[in-house]
Amino acid sequence: MADKRYDLIVIGAGPGGYSAAIRAAQLGFSVACIDKRASLGGTCLNVGCIPSKALLESSERYVEARDRLAEHGVAVDGVSLDLTAMLARKDKVVEDLTKGVAFLFRKNGIEAIVGRARIAGPGRVAVRPADGGVQARTLECDRILIATGSETAALDGLEIDEERILSSTGALSLSAVPDRMVVVGGGYIGLEMGSVWSRLGARVTVVEYLDTILPTMDGEVARQMARALARQGMTFRTGTRVAEARRHGGGLRIAVEPAAGDGDAETIDCDVVLVAVGRRPFTEGLGLEEAGVRRDARGFIAVDTRFETDAKGIFAIGDAIPGPMLAHKAEEEGIAAVELMAGQAGHVNYDAIPGVVYTEPEAASVGRTEEALREQGQRVRVGRFPFSANARARSRAEVDGFVKVLADAETDAVLGAHIVGPEAGTMIAELALAIEFGASSEDIARTCHAHPTLNEAIKEAALAVEGREIHI
Ligand code: FAD
Ligand code: NAD
Repeated sequence: MADKRYDLIVIGAGPGGYSAAIRAAQLGFSVACIDKRASLGGTCLNVGCIPSKALLESSERYVEARDRLAEHGVAVDGVSLDLTAMLARKDKVVEDLTKGVAFLFRKNGIEAIVGRARIAGPGRVAVRPADGGVQARTLECDRILIATGSETAALDGLEIDEERILSSTGALSLSAVPDRMVVVGGGYIGLEMGSVWSRLGARVTVVEYLDTILPTMDGEVARQMARALARQGMTFRTGTRVAEARRHGGGLRIAVEPAAGDGDAETIDCDVVLVAVGRRPFTEGLGLEEAGVRRDARGFIAVDTRFETDAKGIFAIGDAIPGPMLAHKAEEEGIAAVELMAGQAGHVNYDAIPGVVYTEPEAASVGRTEEALREQGQRVRVGRFPFSANARARSRAEVDGFVKVLADAETDAVLGAHIVGPEAGTMIAELALAIEFGASSEDIARTCHAHPTLNEAIKEAALAVEGREIHI
């Protein structure tokens, strides 16, 4: 027996689901949002974007106080680490922000329901207690939006116990700084969490299967990042695979071998291993097959351009569907999906979704990489500008990195932009806006940028597309 009928039930209260719920409520829908976690915000707020950024910020300040303030003439003696306080601050940031989502739900009249949801038929969702109880209640609705996100991808031979063999979740809460850490996977999580523990004193070795770290980013960005992070003390073993991990003494012995060919195996001893080889969509227990919701070969839910699945009235967004697994992508899709449900013109421009690695320096990217453009036979002109020639970067003593703008050789439209450097993640917004508005490199070059700012490096890179940069 159903207890109430809603216009929309959202399954999952991550950035995709909670943003969709809020937008739907704004559009006049009656909305319930179900999550098995009591604290709202999904992976992103609870165990993803937010706690990792809190630790990145804190660990960066620790290194700054210890090693870099002296350059500014600020003498700081006796800098020491209080890891307990650092972790407690991270937890408080998470708590405040998840409570913030609960406040937004109340403000918008959205019913937050804690429990495991399963699609029980067209317009019917069964909810069981999150603790595994069997007593279910059934809710009825006109439409269902699946926003169940993703989970850590497993690696054979490295079973996660969150003590010695960690996922990102375990790596956010280590109670002591490990002496030696092996990170498997040189992507977003590997570099961000590897940076945190490296800054706090761990000797970090990143084992990457492919020939480069950050393989989805522009090649120049990946190379510059590898150099910068190696200078900070991280060790990179690219073109290498983990064959086995065994308990050894109080720690672990990791056997690694060349990813290609039959080279010799070696061992690396460490205290903890972080498995960061990607994430996969989480759709377990949703009853998708019975509901007629099709998944692709990689387990992502297949949707049409309106985010509707093969089953009428069931929609899906975020990490559970194909595309970059990013919080802002999930949010854009959630909002577009409900606007389309309401008869409005929601859209997501997949060519203008920025990606940011929040290390120091940061790496940020929007649009296509130079490699992808050349592979697609696109004729491009490239403008580059180094932060070493930017006055503000020099004032900050943060000169590592560059801005790179890729423009169509015929139309001059900006097709891609890549930044390594201070505040790259904030600055990339200018270039995302440029792509969104169909700007040319000339448009950016002719836009007045305040002096002295880091963003002047973007203007200079745009000028450099035609070889007319001023400060180099
Ligand atoms: P999620 O945020 O995964 O939310 C899904 C929710 O659904 C979860 O709360 C889950 O409990 C719930 N759920 C699942 N199944 C059910 C069910 N049957 N019943 C009820 N509830 C259910 N992205 C960025 O853009 N920037 C970053 O800086 C960033 N940092 C990250 C750092 C880490 C360590 C990790 C792991 C990820 C990071 N990400 C980052 C990725 C980002 O977290 C995800 O892309 C984003 O959370 C996806 O949002 P979503 O709404 O699709 O799903
Ligand atoms: P990732 O896809 O970013 O990186 C995984 C890396 O592991 C790749 O470089 C891949 O080549 C490598 N790899 C795969 N199999 C391997 C193996 N067997 N041995 C060694 N290396 C292997 O994935 P991630 O770092 O786990 O993060 C998952 C996702 O979460 C990211 O793709 C991203 O979408 C999201 N995320 C985003 C941010 C951010 O926006 N700042 C931060 C963290 C996570």
